[in-house]
Amino acid sequence: MSKRIIIIGGVAGGASCATRLRRNDEEASITIYEKGPYVSFANCGLPYHIGNVIKSRDALLINTPEALKNKFNLDVKIKHEVIKIDRENKQVEVKNLESGEILTDSYDKLVVSTGSSPLRPPIPGIDGDNIFSLWDIPDMDVIIENLDKVKSNHATVIGGGFIGVEVAENLVDRGFDVSLIELSNQVMPPFDFEMAQVLHRHMNEKGIELILSNGVKSFESSDDNVKITTNNGEVYNTSLVVLSIGVKPNSSLIKECGLELNNRGGVVVDEKLQTADKDIFAIGDVAEVIHIVNGQKTMIPLAGPANKMGRIAADIIAGKEAEYKGSMGASVVKVFDLTAACVGMNEKSLERNGLVKGKDYITNVIHPKSHAGYYPGAMGIDMKILYDPTGKILGAQAVGFEGVDKRIDVLSSVIKFGGTVYDLTELELCYAPPYSSAKDPVNMLGYVAENLLTHNESFVDIENLENNEDTILLDVRKDAERMMGAIEGSIHIPLDKLRENVDKLDKSKKIIVFCAVGLSSHSACRILKQKGFDRAYNLSGGYTSYRIYNYKINSQLKKASVSRIEQAKENVQEDDDNVKVIQVDACGMQCPGPALKLHDAIKNAKSGDVIEIQTTDSGFFADVEGFCNSTGHTLIKNEQGNRGYVSRIRIAGKQDGSSDEQTGIVALPHDKTMVVFSNDFDKAIASFIIANGAASMGRDVTMFFTFWGINILRKKHAGKVRKNMVEKMFGAMMPKGSSKLKLSKMNMAGMGKSMIKGIMRKKNVLSLEELIETAIKNGVKMVVCTMSMDLMGIKKEEIIDGVEYGGVVSYLDAAERSDVNLFI
Ligand code: FAD
Repeated sequence: MSKRIIIIGGVAGGASCATRLRRNDEEASITIYEKGPYVSFANCGLPYHIGNVIKSRDALLINTPEALKNKFNLDVKIKHEVIKIDRENKQVEVKNLESGEILTDSYDKLVVSTGSSPLRPPIPGIDGDNIFSLWDIPDMDVIIENLDKVKSNHATVIGGGFIGVEVAENLVDRGFDVSLIELSNQVMPPFDFEMAQVLHRHMNEKGIELILSNGVKSFESSDDNVKITTNNGEVYNTSLVVLSIGVKPNSSLIKECGLELNNRGGVVVDEKLQTADKDIFAIGDVAEVIHIVNGQKTMIPLAGPANKMGRIAADIIAGKEAEYKGSMGASVVKVFDLTAACVGMNEKSLERNGLVKGKDYITNVIHPKSHAGYYPGAMGIDMKILYDPTGKILGAQAVGFEGVDKRIDVLSSVIKFGGTVYDLTELELCYAPPYSSAKDPVNMLGYVAENLLTHNESFVDIENLENNEDTILLDVRKDAERMMGAIEGSIHIPLDKLRENVDKLDKSKKIIVFCAVGLSSHSACRILKQKGFDRAYNLSGGYTSYRIYNYKINSQLKKASVSRIEQAKENVQEDDDNVKVIQVDACGMQCPGPALKLHDAIKNAKSGDVIEIQTTDSGFFADVEGFCNSTGHTLIKNEQGNRGYVSRIRIAGKQDGSSDEQTGIVALPHDKTMVVFSNDFDKAIASFIIANGAASMGRDVTMFFTFWGINILRKKHAGKVRKNMVEKMFGAMMPKGSSKLKLSKMNMAGMGKSMIKGIMRKKNVLSLEELIETAIKNGVKMVVCTMSMDLMGIKKEEIIDGVEYGGVVSYLDAAERSDVNLFI
C-alpha cells in the first residue's frame, strides 16, 4: 500500500521535502497544507522587490500548486491551516481559510515545516497604522502599497538583524530616508562589534541614520505619522515602520499534541529529524538543531538548513539511511556595496557558553585584499577568525566589497570537517591575480594564527588596547601613512629605522606595535623579540582595526562631510584654466602605496593645484579626509564608484607636512605647546593668536608660562597679598597684567604700544585681554610654572582665573604629544 504523507507548511523546508519524497517514491500520496496564499515562494527575495531590485513580483513565486501537481503529482492545498494534530488517530484537523470548513486528514508520516514568525512584542501602539512586519508575500504587498501612499519619504526599521538591514537598504533604494533603531550597540548580531563597525560606517555613508543601544518604548500612529518614543525618551517621527525584531518558531501544534519543545520554543528532534513520535518529523526554522561547532542544541533559522532538512527527512521517510548532522549558521548579507558573511560562533556566543577569551578561545583580525594588489580593482576585506588553543576553528567573519562569501564558504567547509588553523595554511586555493593572491586571505588567517599558537608572536586585540604608563604604543608605518592618522599617544619609528633606534625604547615596558594592517608590525615584533623586548605585542589588525573600532556612529557624519565637500567645491573654480588638475592613479595599490603616491604628488604640486587620485584601497578612502584636516589641504571630492574611489584634493600652501626626511621617534602630531617666557606685549599677542588659531582647528594647546611670561596673567588689582619685603619690591617692578605690558621694540614710553593697539582695533584684531578670554573659552590649557612663581614671589591670588599650576614635567608631557613647540 502506498504511504500517506502530510506536510504542514509549503515553503523552504516543506516544498523541498515534498519534491524529494516524490523523487524517492512515485506511489506515495503527498499532500501539502499551506495556510498562506502561496507555496514555494522566495521569502529571501522579498526585501529586494520592495527596493525594486527584483522588478517582477512573479519572479518570487517559484512554484504554484498547479505546477507542483503537474511536475511532481503533489496535492497542494493553499489557504488551508492545520489546527490540530491527533497523534492517537494519526490525523490532522485542517481549516479551509476561505470557506471556514474544518476537515480531517490521515497520515502515515507527518512532516511539520511551519517555520517561524516575526516577533511583535507588546510595545504600546505596536498594532497601530503603518507599522508592518515582512515575512511573506502579502506582508510585502502591504508594505509596498503603503510606501506608495505615505506623504513623507521617511521610514524607520526597528531591528538590525539580517532582514532589518536588507529592508533598510531597499527602502533607501526606493528613495526613502531611513532610520534604523536597534536595542543593542550594533547591527547584525552574528558579527562581533568591530566587524559590525565596518557596516555601521558604510550604512552611515549611504545615509542611514543608526540609532543604536536604544529600544522602542512606544508607538503612536496618527495621520500618516508614527511617533516613536525610545527607551531613553527620545522621540522620532516617521511615516512607516518595518519591524524586524526577531523570530519565534511556529511550534504551537507540536506543543498542543504533547511533544517536547526546547526553552526557545523549538521542536525537539533527534538526528533523524523525528520527534518522540517517530511518525512526526520537524524540519526547518521550527526544529532545533545541533550546532556543529560545540555540539549543543540550538535554533538556526536559515533557508539552507531548512532545505537540507527537508531533503533528509524525505530520505528517511523513504527508508534510506540518512541523518541531519547539524548547522553552523553560515550566512551572508548584502549591505549596499559591502558583503558581510560569517560562520560558526562569535565572541558573544562563545562567552555565553562559558568560554573565556585568551584561555579557551583566541581571535585574530586581518585586512587583506580580495585579489593581488597590483591587479586593478583589489578591494580590502576585513576578516576575523576565532579558534581554540588547539587550533580548532570555532568561527569566522568577513566584511568587504569582493570575495567575501567565497572566503567564508572555504572556512565553513574547513569547520564542517573539524579543521584547524594549521589546515588553513595548507589549503591549496585557486589563484590568478584577478581572483586572489598566491597566499589567499584564508591562508593568511592560518599563518597569523599559526604564528600565535607556536608562540612566535603575541597579539593584543583592539578592544584590549591599553595606553598607560607601562605601555609604549609603537607605530612602525612609513611617514606618509602616519599622516593619514595615528593612534593617540603613540610614538613613531618607521620599520626601516627601527634597528637603529631600538635603544630609544624602554625594555621594561610593554610595547604594542602597530602598522596599517599587522604585517610590518609582525616584522617589527620579530626584531624587538630578538633584541630582548620580551613584552612586544602585535596589535591585531593594526591601525585599520583601530580606525574601524573607534568609528563614531553619527547620522550627521555623512551630511556634515558632504556639506564640507560641497562648500569646498564652491570655493574652487576647477573650470578655471589656471587650476591645474594632477591625475594620480593608485588603483590596485595596497596601503601605504596610495598615501605615498599622494605624498609625492603634493611635493610636486603648487598651492591651488588639484590632485585627483584614483584608488581601490578602502583604508585610503577612509583616511583621506583626516589627512586633509591635518595638513590643511581641502578635500573637494571623495566618492566611491563600483570598482574603486576617486578623491580630489586642493593643495593649500606648502605646509603639507612633508616629513619624509623625518627619522626616528616622532611624537603624535596635532597638539601644540608653547613656552611663554617673555612679557613683551607684542610677543604675548602673537602667542595668544597662535594658541587661539590652533584651538579653533581642534588642536589641544598647552601654554606654559614661566619667568617674565607669568606677568601676562597677573591681575591688575589682586587685593591684599601677603609677601615679604623682597617679593613686594620684585612684584612692584614687574608689569601687573596684560594691560601693563610694553612693546619689545619701539615702545617709545608707551606711544608705540598705543599706536599698535589703535591699529589692532581698526583692523578688528582682538585685544590681548579678549584673546586671553577667548583662549580660556577655547579650552587652551594655560599652565603657570610654580617654580618661577616661587622665585619671583608671585602668589596664586595674583593670577587670573582659568589657569592651571604645574612644573616642567606637565609641560614636557604635553610637548611629547605635540608637533609644534614654540618658545616665545
Ligand atoms: P518557511 O519557509 O517560513 O515556511 C513555513 C510555512 O508554513 C509558511 O508559509 C507558513 O504559512 C506555513 N504554516 C505555518 N503554520 C501553518 C499551519 N498551521 N498550517 C499550514 N501552514 C502553516 N534565510 C537565509 O538563509 N538567507 C536569506 O537571505 C534569508 N532571507 C530572508 C528574508 C526574509 C524576508 C525572510 C522572511 C526570511 C529569510 N530567510 C533567509 C529565512 C528563511 O527564509 C527561512 O529560514 C526558511 O524559509 C525556513 O524554512 P521553513 O520551511 O522552516 O519555513
